[in-house]
Amino acid sequence: MTTATTPEQETGAAVECVGVQKSFDGTPVLRSVDLAVEHGQVLCLIGPSGSGKSTFLRCLNHLERIDGGLLRVAGEMVGYREHKGRLHELRQHEIARRRADIGMVFQSFNLFPHMTVLENIVEAPMSVRGIKRSAAEEDARRLLDKVGLAGREGAYPRMLSGGQQQRVAIARALAMHPKIMLFDEPTSALDPELVGEVLAVMKELAAEGMTMIVVTHELGFAREVADTVVFMDGGYIVEQGAPAELFANPQTERCRDFLSKVL
Ligand code: ADP
Ligand code: MG
Repeated sequence: MTTATTPEQETGAAVECVGVQKSFDGTPVLRSVDLAVEHGQVLCLIGPSGSGKSTFLRCLNHLERIDGGLLRVAGEMVGYREHKGRLHELRQHEIARRRADIGMVFQSFNLFPHMTVLENIVEAPMSVRGIKRSAAEEDARRLLDKVGLAGREGAYPRMLSGGQQQRVAIARALAMHPKIMLFDEPTSALDPELVGEVLAVMKELAAEGMTMIVVTHELGFAREVADTVVFMDGGYIVEQGAPAELFANPQTERCRDFLSKVL
């Protein structure tokens, strides 16, 4: 039996990549990435510096344009829409709408320094989603409580530790009620004693069923939380599997070598 599906249709996977390619000035950075992430799954992406991990996340979040292949997030194509059997490039407002469904947390927190914690969190729901201030603030307070920062809504980012700032950044991303959360080395900029509090929030999110893609060197977190670990090198997915399996029994020299340096 054949089923007619259009690329716009909600599919089974939260993220679907087929043959995704991306070059910068003729240098391939993603060579042909095939990947599927199911709803509610946590995927940890590991690999050496320069292997294309951040570029991959940026493509998922419409921050980079892919040169080839097909990318679908939350059932919607990245970069294109289909109309009468033909692909059309997305317009800016369409990109903005699709990006609103994707939460992203960066290594460097990226909070607005001149805004309070509360303003940081309510800004996008109000301006992008058109939520009323009272409702946005109520949701922000709930989220601050969730990330262990109840009562800090009036603080400015500079008054907070790195771990607290990153938890605000997570609350800010969640305030858009995203369908998927992307994390790009969320604990790499933190002092070691602050890493745990951020990972604990992420672990709770995972337990609640959030679909997550996490670039991380925290292999303990990956082992405990990830459904799948993907090892990337040189713009390719070299290996993927369940964490226990991949960590205990890497199939390639490159993955073995990487794990021996990080573990
Ligand atoms: P990773 O996150 O795994 O460390 P990146 O995705 O940041 O890797 O980078 C992969 C490669 O792409 C690197 O060689 C990097 O220099 C290059 N690169 C990333 N972004 C750009 C860009 N905007 N312009 C040119 N080269 C880039
Ligand atoms: Mg990176």
